[in-house]
Amino acid sequence: MPGLPPLTHEEAQREFAETLSGFTAGDKPEYADYSRCIHCGLCLNACPTYRLWHNEADSPRGRIRQMALVDQGRLELNEAFVTHIDRCLDCRACETACPSGVEYGKLVELARAQIAKNFKRPRTSRWIRNFVYRRLLTDPRHIARIARAMRFYQRSGLEAIVRGTRILRLIGMSKRAELMPRIDREFFFSRLGKTFPAQGERRARVAFFAGCLAQVTFTQLNDATIRVLQANGCEVVVPADQFCCGALAAHAGERDVARELARKNMKAFSAEAFDAIVTNAAGCGSTLKEYAQLFATGREENESTDDAERAAEFSRGVRDVTEFLSDLGLSARMREMKLRVTYQDSCHLLHGQKIREAPRKLIRAIPGVELVEMPLAEQCCGSAGVYNVTETATSMELLKEKMRNAKSTGAPIIVTANPGCMLQLRAGAKLHATGQDVLHVVELLDRALTNA
Ligand code: SF4
Ligand code: SF4
Repeated sequence: MPGLPPLTHEEAQREFAETLSGFTAGDKPEYADYSRCIHCGLCLNACPTYRLWHNEADSPRGRIRQMALVDQGRLELNEAFVTHIDRCLDCRACETACPSGVEYGKLVELARAQIAKNFKRPRTSRWIRNFVYRRLLTDPRHIARIARAMRFYQRSGLEAIVRGTRILRLIGMSKRAELMPRIDREFFFSRLGKTFPAQGERRARVAFFAGCLAQVTFTQLNDATIRVLQANGCEVVVPADQFCCGALAAHAGERDVARELARKNMKAFSAEAFDAIVTNAAGCGSTLKEYAQLFATGREENESTDDAERAAEFSRGVRDVTEFLSDLGLSARMREMKLRVTYQDSCHLLHGQKIREAPRKLIRAIPGVELVEMPLAEQCCGSAGVYNVTETATSMELLKEKMRNAKSTGAPIIVTANPGCMLQLRAGAKLHATGQDVLHVVELLDRALTNA
């Protein structure tokens, strides 16, 4: 057009690609990210789904290739594409293995954002996703209401009656029922807004991120985390207006929901200054540390970058509890416990946050505790957020291998660092009759303290 400067080569290429692309503008896998894959295949053996099926389309390299092809308009965003992306655990083991620095977690979550926007799932699936991601996780009152109903089901004897019949097996829910968490008698919500003093000289002042479903299913773990922090000289503040971190929504491609939750948390934790924002959930920690990524995409050109800057600032303060305690150094006196334990890496601690040594260092610091490494501790247990519910058969195959490896250590306790993994491993111990107990690292530390 007369009067307009000609397009540069890069602009012309981008315009051409946008016309063809099977993705729409906003949150989408970008060329700059997927083109870092050099197709070397070094990630293949780290990938749980590739190890199971030896199918290139279910490998990291194959999934990246499919994203590139859809972006270039050479493959449709159709059911086959959705299936291969859905089957990915988002465990990010491929990121650890990749020599080229491909940020696979970011790519798969952006591919899922495109699926959420541009692919019509069956009606029931749409209804469930809408309810879980847009209503349940965004409102703690809904979580509390549903948890109360489930608590009644579990504790009134109704659950025992249902399990005594063949109903669960007939409707294909018997394995999923094993994965259902026990609802706590008392919810953690009552601790919101409280401050717990440090024992002895105060060494740090931290804010505790309590999680969403964890507040109705892992109250004991949250209480143990606070006790361990207190015993090690930390004053612990539990900010009142905190919400779900947004991890489940972000993993499912519901990035607008995740952004909204991130804004609420940034506000809740910015009222005071803290030495750290501490979480005991590796899945939450990984997302809390990557809030800036949520605001780096999906923003209109004229929109402000304030949120991205605030998110980067917020994320700099986030620490997994094992990372924080390992850096701070344990100061609490601990009793000797003659115990053999094994450790299962949580994917979002090891592959998402690159934290391997901190939990092991803490376990070894407990007098008398022997840590026996299990084979393939770095492989996903099959929990992966809601993967064990949406892809139950695959999840159970991975769990079977995990329990075989855990059992081979002869350790009566499996220690891990994420509530989701704990639920999965507890179900595994029951289904495969390994007789093992499952604890979080801080629960093990708490036992040593409690007995001091
Ligand atoms: S995130 Fe996990 S399951 Fe998905 S491609 Fe990477 S290694 Fe495979
Ligand atoms: S290891 Fe990295 S570069 Fe190599 S195929 Fe896998 S994702 Fe691509």
